[in-house]
Amino acid sequence: MQIAIDGPASAGKSTVAKLIATRLGYIYCDTGAMYRVVTLLAIQNHIAFDDEKAIMQKLQQTEINFQPTSNGQKVFMNDQDVTNAIRQPDVTNNVSQVAALAAVRKELVTRQQKIAAEGNIVMDGRDIGTTVLPNAEVKIFMIASAAERAQRRYKENIQKGINTPLDVLEKEIVARDYKDSHRKISPLQKATDAIELDTTHLTIPEVVDKIITIINSK
Ligand code: C5P
Repeated sequence: MQIAIDGPASAGKSTVAKLIATRLGYIYCDTGAMYRVVTLLAIQNHIAFDDEKAIMQKLQQTEINFQPTSNGQKVFMNDQDVTNAIRQPDVTNNVSQVAALAAVRKELVTRQQKIAAEGNIVMDGRDIGTTVLPNAEVKIFMIASAAERAQRRYKENIQKGINTPLDVLEKEIVARDYKDSHRKISPLQKATDAIELDTTHLTIPEVVDKIITIINSK
């Protein structure tokens, strides 16, 4: 069984996807984390975000791994634990540019499809239902108002010690959505067979229950 969850930034996709994967005993793959790792790779190696060739050279030598721990899933770039580093504003505000590079997308989509081939999976991102897992049995497109998404991200950030003001966050989220929806290759788009779920006025457990009901009906 493949469950694809797509949608704009901070719609709660990964929180919900993780809970569903745990509940069903499925693998969980956070594809956004993979694009974030590539962005961090560029930053650490002083590579410009549009230098596709140099980024690809580094990416070919870099493994991206997820490790489940009792404290949540950790993300590794080769041996380096980058779980927190990939959530910092310098990565968040540049990831869309790196994610627009054709070669980067091709490479990461191949890696994501390999992970999905390992078994039952919940995968979240922007192009899962359209490109990565076009035959997924369940496709969800999660949306929420930009104001609500900024609020949610603000609360998460405060816990992580990131102090970006709420209005700046909302502008950043809207800018990232615009870039992700307007890039040439597999832009953020609702798959024709995806079910749209507006989570603006729903709690996390309510969203999880709704998706589990949809899964059970399949
Ligand atoms: O999901 P998250 O917000 O962590 O994703 C970070 C960025 O990675 C997105 O803004 C987008 O540019 C890119 N992304 C993508 N395709 C995916 C997942 C994420 O282009 N499947």
